[in-house]
Amino acid sequence: MTTRLFYDTDCSLEPLAGKTITFIGYGNQGRAQALNLRDTFKNAQNVTQPKIVIANQEDSYAKTAEQDGFGYTTDWAAAAAEADVLFLLVPDQIQPDLFNNQIAPKLKKTACIVVASGYNVFYKYLNFTSSNDIVMVAPRMVGASVRSLYESKQGYPCFVSVEQDGTGQAWPLALALCMAVGATKGGAIESSCREEALTDLFAEQAIWPTVIAVFREGYKLLKELGCSDEALVHEMWLSKEPAEIFESAADLGFIKQLVGHSSVSQYGQLKGSQEMDVSWLKKHFEHVAKERVLEGAFAEEFTAAEQKPGGIDGALKKLYQEAEKSELAVGEKRVRERLGLKT
Ligand code: NDP
Repeated sequence: MTTRLFYDTDCSLEPLAGKTITFIGYGNQGRAQALNLRDTFKNAQNVTQPKIVIANQEDSYAKTAEQDGFGYTTDWAAAAAEADVLFLLVPDQIQPDLFNNQIAPKLKKTACIVVASGYNVFYKYLNFTSSNDIVMVAPRMVGASVRSLYESKQGYPCFVSVEQDGTGQAWPLALALCMAVGATKGGAIESSCREEALTDLFAEQAIWPTVIAVFREGYKLLKELGCSDEALVHEMWLSKEPAEIFESAADLGFIKQLVGHSSVSQYGQLKGSQEMDVSWLKKHFEHVAKERVLEGAFAEEFTAAEQKPGGIDGALKKLYQEAEKSELAVGEKRVRERLGLKT
């Protein structure tokens, strides 16, 4: 079946008319989505305005909510109790404890819970009751871009799904939410928490680690073959050529962008990628996609790491210390210092 794309013309704001819409978290996504939603209703004709409630812990984001004219509460339970729609927009690792202990017990039976990431729903870390609607509205970019693209009247890529249709009205509500936050301007993509978690975690745990390892090992080999740090750092990324290639891939097409390179380069890239023995890569990717992501080994490991002394920050500190020992990191630090660039 072809994946559905939903545009403004497929949606109505009516399911949100007069509802209380609560944002739990006014950070990266919370601020952008709340502002977009408020502006959409400001510009809408003949729809009863919803009430927007912002709940956030006492921090700089809370102050921003005030400056943006929303006000805020730090009382999670009270905010949850009045919500018809509740956007859960605190970091993924915080959600289970906060939601299960302070929010879920207070929710209306018919409340719609909106997540912006599939992680906690796919791994069943959130305790929902069967009468609630569970919806995913997951922009594929940072909040600042969600806001700036909305302001310039452009769309942005966003996944949408209904994970649980407790009220029987979850789809019209999900589409209304997508429209309100500006996600249907460019076509919201029908997806699922499984697909969102799989694609997101696969990119983070298979594609980008491979890219990091390729750069690290390539750098090491060329250094051994006599190349200077200055040459390698500039050739490999400081020139911004890789960034331009990915930009062209988005503009022209992943393969089509190659035509902008020299004939030697095009031949080398196409021949090299087609002749490479990728059997080890395929096996590794399958391991990540199936065992690490779908069967939950990564999620278990991450949760366990959080519970150890030092938590995730401690684990990240060790990983960074290790990464900084590589030839690539050491060489780059020296070059950047020499050039007076940020280190
Ligand atoms: P943020 O990191 O911006 O945090 C949002 C708010 O949660 C902040 O006020 C933060 O406070 C607060 N918070 C942190 N810890 C706690 C806690 N223990 N109790 C209560 N509040 C806490 O979140 P994001 O917007 O990045 O993420 C929200 C959701 O959006 C997640 O599901 C994420 O996966 C998803 N998403 C994020 C994207 C992104 O680019 N960031 C892109 C697409 C989806 P403080 O910072 O002061 O600790």
